[in-house]
Formats: sequence, C-alpha cells, structure tokens
Amino acid sequence: MTTAPDVLALQETDQALDRARARLTDVEAQMGESEELIAIRQDVAVREEVLTQLRSRLHDAEWSVDDARGKATEVEGKLYGGSIRNPKELTDLNADLSSLKAQVAKREDTLLGLLVEIEEAEALLGSEQTGLAEKEAVWRRDQAALLGEKSQLEREIADLETRRRDQLPAVDASSLRLYQLLRDRHRGQAVARVERGMCQGCRITLPMSLLQKARSGIGLVQCVSCERILLVS
Ligand SMILES: [Zn+2]
Repeated sequence: MTTAPDVLALQETDQALDRARARLTDVEAQMGESEELIAIRQDVAVREEVLTQLRSRLHDAEWSVDDARGKATEVEGKLYGGSIRNPKELTDLNADLSSLKAQVAKREDTLLGLLVEIEEAEALLGSEQTGLAEKEAVWRRDQAALLGEKSQLEREIADLETRRRDQLPAVDASSLRLYQLLRDRHRGQAVARVERGMCQGCRITLPMSLLQKARSGIGLVQCVSCERILLVS
C-alpha cells in the first residue's frame, strides 16, 4: 500500500528534477554567440575600415605635397637660375612661385590634419580592440563554465530519473494519478506536512479524526481544505 512518505520521496525527486531541468534550459539559453560581442566586433571592423581610408588619404596627401614642392623647386630654379632676364617673365615666375608655395603650405596643413586624425583613430581602435579582447576572454570563460554546468546538470537529471524509476513501484496507479493531479494544482507541492495539527500547505487546523487517520499510516489521507496528501511525522 502506498504511504505518504512514498509519495513525499517521489515529490522530492520531481522537485529536484524540475529545478535541474529549469536550470538546464537557462544554461542552454545562455550558451552560444553573444550579441554584445557581435556588435563590438562590428564596431571594431568599422573603425578599421575608417583607418584604412585615412591612411590611403594620407598616402595621396604625401604625394600631393611632394608634387607641389617639386613644382615650386622647378620654378625657383628658373627664377634664380639667371637664364631668364625678361622682367615680365620674372614677375610671372615670382607670382607662380608664391602661388605654389601657398599650395604647398595648404597641402601640408591637410597632411598634418590627417596625421592627427590617424593618431586619434588608432588610439580609439586600440582601446576598442583591448575592450573586445577582454570581453572575449570573459565570454570564453563563461562559456566554459556553462558547458561544465550543463554536463553536470545532465548527469544530475539522469541520476534523478533513475531514482524516480526506482521510486515509482512503491506508488500505485491511483495514488500516482492523485499525486500528479495535486502536483499540477499546487505547483509541485502535492504532499503537505502536518505540524501542531495544522496542514502546512494551507495552514488550516485539521479535524482530530483526520489526524488520527493520517497518523495510522494506512492509505493516503488528504487535507479537507487544499486536498494535499498529509504527512504526519
Ligand atoms: Zn491543506
């Protein structure tokens, strides 16, 4: 005959199973790619692209400065070389030289501006890469811990399922149906302990006759109010 302690033992196993399965679902949900990491990786890729473009512009700017300098040197050579004596030509050359020198100065400013921009972009990229590396290290550590917890939970669940199979023969079919029904109704709490004559499930004071019946240990006795299976210790 099924006794209240038999049903309680089954309930304890089922509650442990519920907890382990809920935690496993939680652990599995946390496993895999992190959206935060994906977003940071994308940010880093964008910064790298920006830096590549800046370096390419720097390359063009360097070429452009050299070009203007070369032209200025050429004009300077003509102007002071002594081969040209015509005042009109000399005045024109002088004007060309001034204009080229202004161009060199302007292009050098652009070049310096780019150097500053590149330095800033490199610093920003460096700090983002460091941040990404740190986050990736934490993520890898967390994933390893989750993987460890997952296999531990799977072992625990397998053990509990074995225990449940061993406990089932002690609970007859009608008692099992009653237990399942009450378990669903009372969020896993089908069995209630009795303390000082009170059902610990719903806190009602139980009639003496019911208490005596429960104490006798013959068959399952249910609370008159919440209908849980009563266990008198
Ligand atoms: Zn009750």
